[in-house]
Amino acid sequence: MSTLAEQLKSCGVVGAGGAGFPTYVKTQTEVEYLLVNGAECEPLLHKDYELMKHCASGIVQGAKAMRSATRARYARFGVKSKNAAAVEAIQASIAGTDMDTVLLGDFYPSGDEFELVYSGTGRLIPPGGIPLAVGCVVINVETLYNVARAVDGHPVTHKFLSVTGAVRKPKSFWAPVGTSFRELLAAAGGTTTADYGFFISGIMMGRLSFDLDDVVTKTTGGLIVLPRDHYLIVRKERPQQSMRRIGKSACDQCSFCTEFCPRYLLGYDVQPHKVMRSLGFTASGAALWNQSAELCCACGLCTLYACPEDLYPKEACDQAKHDLREAGTKYVQKNAPLVHPMKDSRRVPLAMLRRRLKVEDYEAETPFEDVKLTPSRVRILLKQHAGQAAVAVVRVGDRVRAGERIGDLEGNRLGAAIHSSIDGTVKAVTDAAIEIAS
Ligand code: SF4
Ligand code: SF4
Repeated sequence: MSTLAEQLKSCGVVGAGGAGFPTYVKTQTEVEYLLVNGAECEPLLHKDYELMKHCASGIVQGAKAMRSATRARYARFGVKSKNAAAVEAIQASIAGTDMDTVLLGDFYPSGDEFELVYSGTGRLIPPGGIPLAVGCVVINVETLYNVARAVDGHPVTHKFLSVTGAVRKPKSFWAPVGTSFRELLAAAGGTTTADYGFFISGIMMGRLSFDLDDVVTKTTGGLIVLPRDHYLIVRKERPQQSMRRIGKSACDQCSFCTEFCPRYLLGYDVQPHKVMRSLGFTASGAALWNQSAELCCACGLCTLYACPEDLYPKEACDQAKHDLREAGTKYVQKNAPLVHPMKDSRRVPLAMLRRRLKVEDYEAETPFEDVKLTPSRVRILLKQHAGQAAVAVVRVGDRVRAGERIGDLEGNRLGAAIHSSIDGTVKAVTDAAIEIAS
């Protein structure tokens, strides 16, 4: 294993912008393109923009380290042109190098790996494949910042995030991993409504929660607070059975969900309107219709933007993928993807998406603030990354320092180490988490 891979493994660096894939694995590949994902397209979240604006040189240092490990011939930063300050900061930091930028439009979902690889290289990842199949590795900007810190010996103890929506002072800041959401909301000046829920890491692809004791992990992108009776919360809370029942009776097969699906427009065989048919054909045919969901990336556009009847094609795709897995079958698209001639005309601008989601009033800057949160207690999850959960290496009563390793990988399994984010005493160790009080 290379020195960089060892450093990333020991510092617990994982993808900060998605499922938390351990980054050391990506150093063990050789590629042509290193694509840096600064596309950030979840409505209302602007934390990557703030990070690029304020920490561009750290991000570029991380990109240099990853580029050298992967021997990438090209290193390209994907940033939206509307984020002029971020573009400027990145371009200033790469000046004099052969790294470059690809400027993206303000569309959803421009940060999807398949989209970014296409925008950055003109290549299409084979159906069911990963960027490596077309000589690319894609890494989020915050992950690269953490790579640079790991090279200097600093483990991942804090997460950069935005707190926005119905809060008094929307902002972006570093929060110790394990901090409760209650403390995040307080740091943003508290909520502007007494009865609320919040989306964790995004309205489109994140999850809805009401649990203030839930905690920050290495992949938390932010909190978006909305009133409890907001359209999005009401929609998200509908029981799955009722989503299916309504879909079965109300879907008129207009196929708008498919016509706006970004994966379909890139040429992949994703057709949510066909998956919707499976709701009405459970005795026969469901398995066939379900195949059209295999390559869905769960971006949510069909459910939250395209469907004129407010139905749930994305959720039908989720169920279809689950059913295919249970049945042990995997659909593989045989034909090479071919970009739809209408792709460019059917992209969804963020402004239109915000309007459709009824969150225009909550669009606000989330300026970076060095808030220096000092929680008196943190709960650090053992599983906050792809692969195996970490195994606790501390016991109740142990004194730990911020940055000290408290959970480790078992053998050579895929996973990530975890570290204390504060100085304190271990108060509890369970199968799920380690609690530390300062
Ligand atoms: S857009 Fe809605 S109504 Fe039209 S096919 Fe899709 S799920 Fe059915
Ligand atoms: S969630 Fe809907 S729009 Fe998004 S990829 Fe899946 S089917 Fe397509």
